[in-house]
Amino acid sequence: MKTIINKTCRMCNSKKFKTVVNLGNHPLVNSLISKKDLKKKDPVFPLHVKQCNSCKLVQLVEIIDANEIYKNVEYLYFSSDMPNLDKYFKPYADDIKKRFLKKKNELVVEIGSNDGIMLQFFKPKYRILGVDPSTNVVLRALKKNITTVPEFFTNRIAKQISFEWGQAKVIYGNNCIAHLNDVRDLMNGVKILLKEDGVFILECNYWGGMVKNINYSLIYHDHFSYFSLDVWNKFVKKYGMSVFDAVVTPAQGGSLRLFISKKKRSKTKRYKRLVSEETKNSLNTFKKSIEYKNNVKRISNKLKKIVNDLKRKGKKIAGYGAAAKGLTILKCSGLGKKQISYFVDDSPAKQGLYTPVDHIPIISRKAANKILPDYFIILAPNYSDVIIKKEKDFIKKGGKFIIPKNELSIV
Ligand SMILES: [Zn+2]
Repeated sequence: MKTIINKTCRMCNSKKFKTVVNLGNHPLVNSLISKKDLKKKDPVFPLHVKQCNSCKLVQLVEIIDANEIYKNVEYLYFSSDMPNLDKYFKPYADDIKKRFLKKKNELVVEIGSNDGIMLQFFKPKYRILGVDPSTNVVLRALKKNITTVPEFFTNRIAKQISFEWGQAKVIYGNNCIAHLNDVRDLMNGVKILLKEDGVFILECNYWGGMVKNINYSLIYHDHFSYFSLDVWNKFVKKYGMSVFDAVVTPAQGGSLRLFISKKKRSKTKRYKRLVSEETKNSLNTFKKSIEYKNNVKRISNKLKKIVNDLKRKGKKIAGYGAAAKGLTILKCSGLGKKQISYFVDDSPAKQGLYTPVDHIPIISRKAANKILPDYFIILAPNYSDVIIKKEKDFIKKGGKFIIPKNELSIV
């Protein structure tokens, strides 16, 4: 598999970086292993998080070629399989319609549209178009009659779309910007495709939330960058655009939603609040990064100790949710097949597969009924509330949950 080493920052081209945290070598947590491939050796790659000295973007400098992640490996994340995601996207789409889409038949383009879970809410009043490089999720979108270009959103693709479909009133992308190495090419594309009075909305991971909640589960090879409002403000200015609204949403355990325009628009109150919060917390200072690193080390050691102590007492432990985030958490604590008997996961696409390197089996929740553990570690921490509500019976019978969220808790 091909790795790319960036010599310069992907936002500002500066050559100088400081280490935030080095998590060592990790497998590709989104590529689960099928039975026939269990004999092969799974590759591991470094996860070394750095921060640009100049624009302060937190980023992986050594990355896996994105084609390897989305094109050649079977990418198993279907948005529609995630619990309650449509409930999250509907009001989000309604907000966009109400504020920015006054006329019908306007073009709405989604970057990284996955299986079309959000785009469907713009039908039939507006023209919709998805762009997503993962072939298998695009096939699912097409089945639902959501026209999708099976490519990365680039300057070249933006020109082609603009030629065939005209300019877009709204372009948006959720959880896709962090997967891009060439973010400057993306911004050039947005600039071409967006109408003069159009709005570009993006939702991405939020470095401010990661620092505040000691969240390191988002650090894996799919995510090349970790963003703050401050870095976006500086970045979009170079393209003659500006951020006029920003809010932190509960998605993915705390995401940053930004509203960007070419035309000058007045800044919202919540935008101003977030700017001053970042300044007040000295978010992009090196001192803050060191504090984050120390917290990550402390929490991952604490999880390791809790789990190993339980194992010594003869307890059986299983993982709940074979999500990339959870596998990162386990790997940071050096936990694997010695400690975890199996994973349960609701996504049928994952059942019957194995985790990379450790080859821990993934089964359905129903299949786990016959071999219930004493403890489940919730490895989809942002869904912990939903899971605990669903598992009242397991808790009633004495079952316990380890939740690696903020400071660890056991319920
Ligand atoms: Zn930079």
